[in-house]
This record gives sequence, C-alpha cells and structure tokens, in this order.
Amino acid sequence: MYDQANIFARILRGEIPCKRVYETDHALAFHDIQPQAPVHVLVIPKGAYVSAQDFSATAPADAIAGFWRAVAETTALLGVIEPGFRLISNHGRDALQSVPHFHVHILAGKSLGVHLVP
Ligand code: AMP
Repeated sequence: MYDQANIFARILRGEIPCKRVYETDHALAFHDIQPQAPVHVLVIPKGAYVSAQDFSATAPADAIAGFWRAVAETTALLGVIEPGFRLISNHGRDALQSVPHFHVHILAGKSLGVHLVP
C-alpha cells in the first residue's frame, strides 16, 4: 500500500523543498539530504510506486522508459558518466529502505570501492 504522506510524495506535491537537479514529466532528480558520496542524487518517478519491485512489476512501459531515460539524463547533467557512478535502489526491510517511494541513488565523485555490502 502506497503511503501518500511519505517524504518524497510531499516533495513531489511541492509541500517541502528539495535541491532539484533535473525534472521531466516522468521523474524528479534531487540531492540527497545526507550525502554518502561527493555526488549523491536521488531520482524518483512521479507516479506512486513503493519500491523498485512495485515500479518494475506494475508501472506502464512509458513510465518505466521515461524514468530510466531521466536517470541517464541526470548522470549526464552531473558529469559523472566518466569516470563513473553507482546506482542503488533499496527494497524492503533487509535493504533498510527508509522512504517508501521508489528511488534510485546515484553515487559518484570518488572511487566507490569494491564492497556493495558494508
Ligand atoms: P533509502 O534508505 O534507500 O530509502 O534512501 C532514502 C534516502 O532519502 C536517504 O539517503 C536519505 O538521506 C534521503 N532523504 C530523506 N529525506 C530527504 C529529503 N527531504 N530530501 C532529500 N533526501 C532525503
């Protein structure tokens, strides 16, 4: 069940501010409030999807294409295609997903190391 009160839904409704990087009809990209790398940007779809699983399994094809195209345009805007970036999306309790609106983390700006799990 999607929680309309989650913080990213509130950002999409303009109820609270964000440091916007890029926006399309399908997606919004903004800086993470607690950056874990020199570049740490979140990309969220404009539709109400709880997580990557929900989005990938249920969103219409144009929303999925529009979202991932916006991710690519965001990494280009950030100038991180070279030397590289990491995409992460947490789903559920074991992954410690803290905001129940699908989001992809773009992490970049330094060598990110070999360990995906701390
Ligand atoms: P996750 O743990 O994968 O659900 O990631 C949620 C991310 O949202 C965390 O990295 C938080 O720092 C970030 N976050 C939470 N509230 C805000 C906010 N108001 N603006 C920007 N980023 C936020």
